[in-house]
Amino acid sequence: MLDVTLKPGRDRSVRRRHPWLLSGAIASVVRREGDATDEVGAWTVVRSARGEVLGHGHYSPQSTIRVRLLDFGADDPGEAVLDRRIAEAVARRQGHPLLAGTDAVRLVNAEGDGLPGLVVDRYADVVVVRASTAGMQRRMPAIAEALRTSTAARAGLERGDGHAARREGFVVRDAPLWGDVPERVAIDERGRRYQVDVLRGQKTGFYLDQRDARDLVQRLAEGRRVLDAFCFTGGFAVAAAAGGASHVTLLDSSSSALALAREHLAATARDCPVDAREGDAFEALRLAAEEDEPFQLIVLDPPPLARRKGDVPAASRAYKDMLLHGFACASEGAFVLAFSCSHHVGPELFGKIVAGAAIDARCAVQIEGRLGAPVDHPVCVQHPEGEYLHGLLLRVTGSGPRLRGAARRA
Ligand code: SAH
Repeated sequence: MLDVTLKPGRDRSVRRRHPWLLSGAIASVVRREGDATDEVGAWTVVRSARGEVLGHGHYSPQSTIRVRLLDFGADDPGEAVLDRRIAEAVARRQGHPLLAGTDAVRLVNAEGDGLPGLVVDRYADVVVVRASTAGMQRRMPAIAEALRTSTAARAGLERGDGHAARREGFVVRDAPLWGDVPERVAIDERGRRYQVDVLRGQKTGFYLDQRDARDLVQRLAEGRRVLDAFCFTGGFAVAAAAGGASHVTLLDSSSSALALAREHLAATARDCPVDAREGDAFEALRLAAEEDEPFQLIVLDPPPLARRKGDVPAASRAYKDMLLHGFACASEGAFVLAFSCSHHVGPELFGKIVAGAAIDARCAVQIEGRLGAPVDHPVCVQHPEGEYLHGLLLRVTGSGPRLRGAARRA
């Protein structure tokens, strides 16, 4: 166990129950006498400068976020806090009215469930675990056991997070945790069928955070020509096809993701024509704005373009470029669903970028709705950083050809 003491006056965020303790707030780190445990991910007590115990958590010696707090107050909840939180998180999802009709659910959403550094997704009978802190990675055997008992899932698998491993200094691991892990798991999300490549797919294999937006796309798609940009395995495209889209165009840089998207579409709506384009979607959007028949429903769901605060100016330009050409591909009356999944590009800034892109595209754009992650991705009120997905349902008015010319000139 490590003993961390804060600098005078640096206890405010811990007292306000923010789960991140930054390295700059720490005055000293002391290892308990006779304790030989590795400090990477060690269980840690956090004290104010006067010695008052403020909370307990996991230590990350390499990260600027030096301690992730799991509990606040003077009492040490002990390592058992993990088991309890996991069981509670699983129980909260059970029978949740807004999670009806799907066998694919996020069971643990890190800070949002009081478990910083831990994400767990359930795909039918298989549980996929992703640790992004040294503390959680180190406790994987206990986490696996807690999940096996609370979910009764047939198999469990750990997927590594390369970014986190570099930041935190642990070794990336992709390893089965229990049971026989199949290569692919079939899920049924309100009638939409997907295969999840749990072993090799991005993150844990599927983007559960867009479930509500997929429901919306399904309801909007009837008879529309649809463009799914940054489509991954076609989550939105399948929703559109299930909703009666007349044509679907897919854009992504990953050939394996596109191959799976095609498979999904063939199984969903055999008679919906599909055009799959592999390559840079920013470039493909620019070309589509000049050449293609306009689209009546467009989804723009890029990867996080601003991982750090310093990335924001470049990310803003990229979002604007994406939106400008997206609008330029739109027909009169088209729906555009546009997303930022960077906490640093929040609703206010994203709204400004949308407004700027609309001016350059010379079209009128209305916000018809706001979209975010669904109920199985809760956010802890003390940790607003956990709210990362910001989406807008936009309506474009103005004639297609005029918009397309405007994009060329902009
Ligand atoms: N819309 C998807 C998730 C998108 S994740 C869904 O709902 O499942 C972001 C996707 O963008 C990934 O599939 C990644 O392969 C792709 N990508 C990243 N950079 C890209 C680029 N410059 N051009 C095209 N695709 C890109």
